[in-house]
Amino acid sequence: MKFRHGVQGVKLDQQKELSLKHKIKNLPMADELPLKPNFNLNGKKDYNYILNAAQKSQIVDEFDGIPLDKKLKKLRGLKPNMIVACCFDEDPWTTSAMAVLREYTAEVISGLEYAAKACGIKERKIAVATKEEAKFIKSINSEAELILAGDRYPARVLLKKKLYSQNIKAFYIGAQACLALDSAVKEGKVQQDTVVTVAGRGVERWSNVKVPLGTELKTVLKFCGVSDKTKMIITGSSLTGKAVLDLTEPVTPSTRCIIAIKKAKKDISYPCIGCEKCASACVRSIVPWKILKVMKNKKPDPLMLTNVQKCIGCQACSVVCPSGIDLAEVVKKAADLKKSGDFE
Ligand code: SF4
Ligand code: SF4
Repeated sequence: MKFRHGVQGVKLDQQKELSLKHKIKNLPMADELPLKPNFNLNGKKDYNYILNAAQKSQIVDEFDGIPLDKKLKKLRGLKPNMIVACCFDEDPWTTSAMAVLREYTAEVISGLEYAAKACGIKERKIAVATKEEAKFIKSINSEAELILAGDRYPARVLLKKKLYSQNIKAFYIGAQACLALDSAVKEGKVQQDTVVTVAGRGVERWSNVKVPLGTELKTVLKFCGVSDKTKMIITGSSLTGKAVLDLTEPVTPSTRCIIAIKKAKKDISYPCIGCEKCASACVRSIVPWKILKVMKNKKPDPLMLTNVQKCIGCQACSVVCPSGIDLAEVVKKAADLKKSGDFE
């Protein structure tokens, strides 16, 4: 993957146009998947009403896999001063959040308002990656209150850091969770589907597909035309996602993308050339090349493994390394070692 080096995080080559070119497609519900009936709630659309709707709708936030009603309840106690809908996709191949915001702008705004009301937060923002995207969304809905997450990876962490430096304690919610909350509050709808980006060199028709929850991954791949030459299927993210071993695995609310890879990554690395790009890319103040050096010792000194426990496994260091060293793995091993206390 190519990169452009910068101050913090990493600027990745984006592969978003192909899946954003068309409207979201609908994958029909398979016969064996039962259609969940709507529910009825009466009364004023206050805190309790919204929480009940989130719970009855069984909404799960796509970013962290946590049931939305639990998140909102917890948040009410924590009293953040801003709620942010994450409508950007930091993975370079994924566009499901962007597509949802583009096609359901009013609904996402409304769902975010309900979430803010449930937590007692006044300030709310829709986070998008770039100025161009902000302009596009404003042209659809001038009411949208936007904030820029930027297009450096990992954007979510960088946005958090930026807001934190401005003394803003923000809470984050997925675009699809906002959309589902809007349907739950207004229409009593249970969350039945999710929008998934299907992309990668092994896919003929890169698309965003609205998929009924529980659909097998292979059905979605077939819908988008997966090549016989596909070597690997990944869900989650092309950087941090997991390889799928069983294509009968179901789509869940957290399945934001399915990526089909034609060429498996070569497992070759070269010696460190001391360029320090890994340190610049890291958003958690870790200096991966130093950790690598320490870990090469027979008995690594734990005092030299600075900040390794702060690693979020974002892979930015590995992506920028011109020597192809899997620094994220080295840092993970160092963190495990430090935690275990298994050294002399
Ligand atoms: S994987 Fe860990 S060490 Fe590497 S850039 Fe991310 S946070 Fe830093
Ligand atoms: S580990 Fe890679 S990115 Fe880091 S200094 Fe060495 S060559 Fe550069």
